[in-house]
Parts: sequence; structure tokens; C-alpha cells
Amino acid sequence: MAQENVNVVARIRPLSNETSDETCIEIDPVSSTITLTTNGKEFNMDKVFEQNAPQEEIFGYVQPIIAAVKNGLHGTIFAYGQTGSGKTHTMIGNDENLGIIPRAIEMIFNALNEESKNRNDNFNFNISCTALQIYCEKTYDLLNGNEKIEIPISDIFKNAKEVEVNSSNECMKIIKCGLEQRKVSGTSMNETSSRSHAILTLTLKTEYFKGNEKHERISRLNMVDLAGSEKRKHTNNSKTQNLESANINKSLLTLGKVIREIINPVKNQVIPYRDSKLTMILRDSLGGNSKTTVIVNIHSNSKYFTETSSTLDFAVNVKKVKNTAILQEFITSKETITLKVEVQRLGEENDKL
Ligand code: ADP
Ligand code: MG
Repeated sequence: MAQENVNVVARIRPLSNETSDETCIEIDPVSSTITLTTNGKEFNMDKVFEQNAPQEEIFGYVQPIIAAVKNGLHGTIFAYGQTGSGKTHTMIGNDENLGIIPRAIEMIFNALNEESKNRNDNFNFNISCTALQIYCEKTYDLLNGNEKIEIPISDIFKNAKEVEVNSSNECMKIIKCGLEQRKVSGTSMNETSSRSHAILTLTLKTEYFKGNEKHERISRLNMVDLAGSEKRKHTNNSKTQNLESANINKSLLTLGKVIREIINPVKNQVIPYRDSKLTMILRDSLGGNSKTTVIVNIHSNSKYFTETSSTLDFAVNVKKVKNTAILQEFITSKETITLKVEVQRLGEENDKL
């Protein structure tokens, strides 16, 4: 049960071909350090992917988390950065350039299918998924017509529709369909996806038998495409507009606050996970029971200097957060299983009386 820091990776997107395209960073790939050329400030990452790094390379880097989830640990991968910096490209990608989500799903199915072929201890597995969207501090279920739902603190997935999936193709179809919901719900598609957080969770259940014991593992992989981290200007003074804009920022502001308080705890003060939907959902991923990688996406054009600087500040902070991933294994003996069945039978008999 080792404690380990959140792993932080920066991915620099290609500059567009504008003539005014000038970068505001310098990268030292050996030490994984990014320097802001404007003020010389240095930011150390666990890894930096430069603009031509292909999707496979990014996936190769996060693969250990997916392998860990397959083996019964909780894992989280999330993408942070301003709108247009490459978060969706990194997490979802497109048909020619698959992102982390489709690759992770395929890897998990392949690995588990292979295992159930090769093991001789009655190994079995089951995979299900949920897809949530947080917009203006309200949670919507992308697998259930984008319907608004409440998330209880005790069990954040309780009211979410959980769909069992039997193959990576089926899983991707369902997820794509869910993500379409994300698009149609708002006034303009870009608006909604840049202002909302999408949280996709795969739940893996595996079981095998060892002598008299049944070993069950239940682990989760969260893959999160966050809302754009840019500062939003209030467009007009109307009360509702300002309220909306405050709510759009609330989850991201709380995310930053939670991270700052984890790394600089204030005596007698609880970490404010409950202050936003996003931090409630990501509670285990930050300072809890999970292996977590954060990808900070950077658009290095010098006109985005301020946003890049604040993204790198976020990266350096989140890198100090420590997690402890614990094997999610539950063991029951045959006797307990038989007893459980007996208790259930007696209960049912009692119901009939
Ligand atoms: P975000 O989700 O952060 O708002 P997107 O992923 O939508 O940003 O990226 C914005 C645009 O830049 C898209 O057209 C995307 O295809 C392109 N893009 C982003 N990152 C890369 C990359 N590493 N390589 C090639 N194109 C990229
Ligand atoms: Mg996006």
C-alpha cells in the first residue's frame, strides 16, 4: 500500500499556421521542464509531450494506470487546460487518431478476455459504464437522455444509469451516443463542451476462486474531459448571467482550492470536496484511494501566455498531491456464500408467511 504522487504530464498542442504564431515556452525534454520565455519561470513535470507526439505515445504513458485498474485498483485520468488546448483530442480523439478513452476500453477488454481464456480458476469478469456531465453545477446523465440527476455524497453513482457492456465496440458505441447528448443539450455545441465536465467511468468486476474462497475485485477507471480552464469574462450585468458564469467556474475553482488545501492543510479544517460536484466525484482521485494521472494540455501561442502560466501553476500544485491505491478485493469463503444463500432463502420464506 504505497503512497504515490499524482502523475502529471504536459502535452503541448501543435501551433496553428497563423503567421503570428509564436510560442511562449521552452521545453527541456531531459528534465521534463517547461520554461515560460516571458518571465523565465520553470515548471517541472513528470513528462512533457511535444507537439508532434502521436496519440499512441500518450496512451503508452498512461497504460500502467489502465493495467492497474484491470488488476483491481481504482484509477483516474483527467485532462486540464484552456479551451482549444487539446483535451478532447487527447481523451477522445477521432476515428483516425483515437484518444485515451477508446484505447483504454480496448485494452481492458482484450486483457480480460485473454485472462479468462488462460486462467483455470473460474475467472470471470463484468464491465459496466456510466457517463456524467456537470454543467453549471448540475449533474446530467449522458446515458439517460442527459436527464438531470442528484448525486448523493454517500454513493455518487447511485442515481446514474449504469450500462453493462460486453465488448469494446459496444462500449464505445454507448459512450459516443452519450457524448452526442453533451453536444445537443446546449445552445451551441462548442459552448457546452467547453463549459462542462464529462466524466466517464468504467466499473470492472472480476472474480476467481481459490480453494474455498471466492475473490472478487471491483475497481473503477474514471476518464475525465474537464471544462476549459480559461477565466471567463462576465458578458453582461444581468443577475442570471452572472450566476450562470459563477456556477460554470465553481467546480474548477473548487478543484484548485481542494488541491491547494490538500498540499497546504489548514489545521482543523476539512478539505472542501463537498463544495462542488466535480470534487465530490473526484474525491478518491485526489488525496484518496486511486492511481491518478493528470494531463495538462497547453496551447503555447504567446497570446495565451496568461492561461498557459495558470495551467502550469495548476500542474505543479496537483503534482504534490499524494494518493494511496488499495487493492479492491473482497474474499468470501464457500461457507459464507452458502450461509448468504440460506439467509436469503429464509428471508423469502418469511415473506411468504
Ligand atoms: P479542447 O477539448 O481542449 O477544447 P480540442 O481537443 O477540441 O481542445 O482541440 C482543439 C483543436 O486542435 C481540434 O481541432 C483538435 O483536433 C486540434 N488538436 C488539439 N491537440 C492536437 C494535437 N496534439 N495534434 C493535432 N491536433 C490537435
Ligand atoms: Mg473539448
